[in-house]
Amino acid sequence: MNRLPVLDKGWVWLAGAGPGDPGLISLLTLRGLQQADVIVYDALVSQEILDMAHEAAVLEYAGKRGGRPSAKQSDISERLVELARAGKKVLRLKGGDPLVFGRGGEEARYLVSHGIPFRIIPGITAGVGGLAYAGIPLTDRHTNSAVTFLTGHGADGGLAKDIDWDALAKASPVVVIYMALSRVGLIAQQFLKSGRPAEEPVAVISRATTSDQVVLETTLGRCEDDLKKAKIEAPAMIVVGEVVKLRAGLDWLGALGGKKLSADVSSVRPQGERKMDFDHEG
Ligand code: SAH
Repeated sequence: MNRLPVLDKGWVWLAGAGPGDPGLISLLTLRGLQQADVIVYDALVSQEILDMAHEAAVLEYAGKRGGRPSAKQSDISERLVELARAGKKVLRLKGGDPLVFGRGGEEARYLVSHGIPFRIIPGITAGVGGLAYAGIPLTDRHTNSAVTFLTGHGADGGLAKDIDWDALAKASPVVVIYMALSRVGLIAQQFLKSGRPAEEPVAVISRATTSDQVVLETTLGRCEDDLKKAKIEAPAMIVVGEVVKLRAGLDWLGALGGKKLSADVSSVRPQGERKMDFDHEG
């Protein structure tokens, strides 16, 4: 630990806290927790991780909770500058990775424009760590050589406008979608319209890597109905693709609870071998 950098006065460390399990934070984030005077954290950062902070550290919440409106991005960025200028050692802690759908880049640019020195500490993003805890590989030789991370939440509240769904459906055998729980129906329709089969496997991973983790396995055709019936809570990731089937052999958490795993991959197909209908209308 002694060789790790020191969080100096007037600096901001913009760090990822991973998806939830405190065992998944990096040594650098731990170092920040132990050295910071002030920790400005988001809603997705778990209490167990905050509990690792130095006892004299001031914890400042900067997210949405209990129905209160979320702090404005500009207010958070301004607060970081204020704290740094007051000579504090500042840890800005975000769920997952700060630069994956986390507006970490915006905060860093604000620091740059105000001359505040900073370091970026990556975290394990939910789209990687959450899948690992669900026993779903992002890539596998049997299924895919590409994967796409997508947000289900565009700037105006609907689906992101800049997604070419036909191109995505064709090019990306596995799609991992953040912030999608309330838009699963819309997203499934887009994939189906773009030629992906109704029986294509889908997994919904809720509260990944925490003790409340729940995984729902469904298909593009059924996911909207299945989700309505299941009690699935945010935050959740959606995974679309054949890799979901590999969970049968890799659900190590399930195995801890007695589930029997199967190493048989004979029913798993690469996307290129599946029948796709790209001659659809629209
Ligand atoms: N920077 C974060 C993502 C922030 S966007 C990261 O890299 O993980 C917030 C979205 O992340 C949520 O809507 C959800 O889709 C996903 N997410 C974050 N933590 C999660 C968790 N523990 N389980 C499931 N999804 C999670």
